[in-house]
Amino acid sequence: MTDYQHILLAADFSEQAHYVAEKARSLADKYQAKLSIVHVLDNIPMPDTNYGTVIPLDEDSQDKLLEAEKTKLMRLGDQLVVDFANRWLLWGIPKQEIIHIAEQEKIDLIVVGSHGRHGLALLLGSTANSILHYAKCDVLAVRLRDN
Ligand code: AMP
Repeated sequence: MTDYQHILLAADFSEQAHYVAEKARSLADKYQAKLSIVHVLDNIPMPDTNYGTVIPLDEDSQDKLLEAEKTKLMRLGDQLVVDFANRWLLWGIPKQEIIHIAEQEKIDLIVVGSHGRHGLALLLGSTANSILHYAKCDVLAVRLRDN
């Protein structure tokens, strides 16, 4: 196996995200790889659809949301010592955007958290599952437990 050169941490800023982040940092150190972080904002205002209405956020709340997420990304980037140019905040569907940026930036390992869902939740799928299925590079799913 060749060493990883560019590792991507998919950060959702959940309570357990720091655990996933530490794994990504320690792998990047081990392989002397570049580390990047991506966070995807999925609260995109949607118009009325055939299936129902998604209430759009007003401009002010959008700005506040963006600022809050930017602050979290910057804080995590500082903690993990990630270059400013490698801290990415994107709009869209997390699984799609993560896979897309990984291809674009020639990432060779994506690090995500995985809740080990089962039953109906497993059938419905998750961000981690989709990335595992569709990413063209290696994926490390860090198992997260509820406690
Ligand atoms: P989920 O299956 O949706 O609970 O998410 C599992 C993992 O996917 C998280 O631990 C993150 O690594 C990643 N992830 C989920 N949502 C996002 C997001 N909005 N931006 C970046 N990564 C995400």
